[in-house]
Order: sequence, then C-alpha cells, then structure tokens
Amino acid sequence: MGTRAQSDWIDAYRGPADRLIGESLSTRFAWERLAELTDTFGHRLSGSDALEAAIRWAEAEMKKDGLENVRLEPVKVPHWVRGQESAEIVAPRRHAIAMLGLGNSVGTPAAGIEADVLSLRSFQELDAAGSRVKGRIVLFNVPFTTYGETVPYRASGPSRAAVLGAVAMLVRSVGPPGLRTPHTGALSYAEGSPRIPAAAIATEDADRLQRLIDRGVAVRVRLRMEARMLPDADSFNVVGEIRGRETPGEIVALGGHFDSWDVGTGALDDGGGCVVTWEAARLMKKLNLRPRRTVRVVLWTNEENGLRGGFAYRDRHRQELANHVLMLESDSGVFRPTGFGFSGSEAARGRVRSIAALLRGIEAHDIGPGGGGADIGPSVEAGGIPAMSLQVDGNYFLYHHTPADTVDKIDPRDMSRAAAAIAVMTYVVADMPQRLR
Ligand SMILES: [Zn+2]
Repeated sequence: MGTRAQSDWIDAYRGPADRLIGESLSTRFAWERLAELTDTFGHRLSGSDALEAAIRWAEAEMKKDGLENVRLEPVKVPHWVRGQESAEIVAPRRHAIAMLGLGNSVGTPAAGIEADVLSLRSFQELDAAGSRVKGRIVLFNVPFTTYGETVPYRASGPSRAAVLGAVAMLVRSVGPPGLRTPHTGALSYAEGSPRIPAAAIATEDADRLQRLIDRGVAVRVRLRMEARMLPDADSFNVVGEIRGRETPGEIVALGGHFDSWDVGTGALDDGGGCVVTWEAARLMKKLNLRPRRTVRVVLWTNEENGLRGGFAYRDRHRQELANHVLMLESDSGVFRPTGFGFSGSEAARGRVRSIAALLRGIEAHDIGPGGGGADIGPSVEAGGIPAMSLQVDGNYFLYHHTPADTVDKIDPRDMSRAAAAIAVMTYVVADMPQRLR
C-alpha cells in the first residue's frame, strides 16, 4: 500500500474521531462515574463485600449505558484480610511506625513479634549477613528507583529473610517519598520456606531506623498483625460489549482491574482504568458508532493479590483468543494521556501510528514500546495477541497502594482526554477494513 492510499484509509476516520473526542471533552461523565464508584463502595479488595457490591453496580450501569451481552463471568479469588495491625520502636524509646501489612502476609501472635532490627540495602547484603539474620526483624531499606527494580524486596524479601532465620520482615515502601505514607502490595511466599509476617513502612520511618542504627543504637521493634487468609471467595469479571456489525466474532478487548487494595479507594489503581475504558464503549454507543468488529469491555477481578481474573478470562475464552484483534489495558493511573504503549508486529505498529495521528489535537498521539498489562497478560501470551496500554504523564507511584489513592488526585479533563484517546484507538481498530496484524 502506498503512502497516498494509507492516508485515504485513515481520512475516513477523521469525522468519527472528532465526534468521539468532542463528546468526551464536553462532559465530566467518566470522572463523575469514578467518583460515584469510589465514594459509594470504597476500596474493593478481593473477597470483600464492597468488591462484590461494586461488581453488581457496574453490571447494572453497563446495562443502563446500553452495552450488549452484559454479564458476570465467575472467578474464585483469594480472600486475605488485614485486621488490626501496628509497628513500633520499643527500644531505646517507644515511637509508632507508619506501616501497612503486606497483602497475603501471615499475622503475628496476639502479643506481637519483638526483635532487634537488622537493616539491609540489598539481597547481597542479606546473603553476606548470614547468621546475623537469625532471630532478627529484617528491614530491606532500598530506595525506590523503578517499580520493577524495587518490588522484588517486597515480593520475595520475606521468604529470602525467613530462610536465614528472620522472625519478621519490614520493607521500605515501594514508592517515592510522600507524606509519611506507607505503600502496601502483595508478597509471595516461596514454596517450602517458613512464612513470616511482613509489612511496609513509610520512607521517613525507614530513614529514621537507618539513622538510629548508623549511630550504633540497638533498635528493637514490635510488630503486631492480625492478617489471615480465609477460604477462596466468589467473584466475577464484568463484561459488556458493542457487538460488531459485520464480523462480531472478531474482538477488540479493553479494560482494567476492578479490585483494589484495602487502603484508599482504588481510584488510580485501577478504578480509573476501568472507567476510562468502559467510557470508550459508552461514547461509541452514545454516538451510534457500531464498528465492524466487537468491542468488549472487561473489568477484571483480583489483579492485586492473585491475578485470578486475568487467568480466568484466558481459560474461559481460550477458543476465541485467536479472534482477539487487540487487547488494551489501562493500569498506570489516569493522568494526562500521552498515547499508547504497543506490542505487536511492525505492520501493526504502522497502522496504530496512523490511528494515533487522529489524537494529535489532544496530544495523545505517541506510540511507545511495550504495550500490555497484568490482566491481559495471560491472554496476550496464550493467543499471541497485539497488546496496548494507555500511556500517561503522572506521578502514579506516589499514590500507588496507599491511603492517598482517592479520586481527587485525578483531573476530570484528563479522564475525558484518556477516554477520548482510548475510544478513537479502539473504535478504528475495531472498524478498519483490514484486521490489525
Ligand atoms: Zn493496578
């Protein structure tokens, strides 16, 4: 196809794109919906009544929007509960520590666990500490660089410390310094190693412990946690569609994860991602834009402490994964959208670039490397499906997994811009004459 023909192809979409953008920018619908979700139900931890009530609400709202084939697809999810918890320095003097237990952690005995703190800056230092780890509370005091680099201390630190005899683990919060805000998140116990309680502490508290220890002070800490795992609970992925007018068996799937941690209200992570992708379909419906292929919105359950929703989607839809034309996830917060990350063939990237040019007016036309997301990951991998993620400009990890993850951090105009960008991208991919390959 020559350059001229390529531009002809995309020209047909300027009108619909401008209508989608215009409609989205003219309302605060998406932000108001997210505010209603998070104000009404609050956090949505897997296994909680709040998550299940929010799922029923989303199902009813999708029907009100006029989406088709609205349904709940069952998923069994882990049911971890936090309970009461605290940490304090008990010697040389008593001071409370700002903390949050890590998801999936075991609890402590009722009286708590009290021990001297051993502060370490890396797994290499842990291994070098050897027998000094036994009987201690290990603190991994590793400053945040990127999520990928720092999160292993939260996820696998507890088991690595336990193998050497640590009695509990603390981790410097995986996030930049905030306002003494601890960040929770999942840990993952290694098979066969002892399970010790683990919690994140605010960066300020990690720094204070470090300064005390650096002065040669023996610091004792007591950790109390009621955390426990209950039997798996019933949950659902929420699905709604705009059926394709010509080839409904071909699917463009988009969404976010509807569950959250049990602190804050899961507005950025990932209520916002759910609402902006859902909004893209609502905008199409509102403007009577029915694409050739099916647009399917999925609000996945249980990303945070299990990824069961993503796996359940892959297993339930295994037969039609080959007919998934594109999967898109928004799970990096909703801030000013700059475009999309994309993973797929070079030919597909060229197509996606042409579509993105329709978003120049809202400056969301960049196509970066690496599209994907935790929830679409299992399906994308199993089906070799082109994958996309919303790219945004914002300080996501300042709020991530903290009590500060609330709707007021989100600018309603950013939500409208993000919904517009996603609507244009997914509508054109779902409608263009040739399948994205
Ligand atoms: Zn998330």
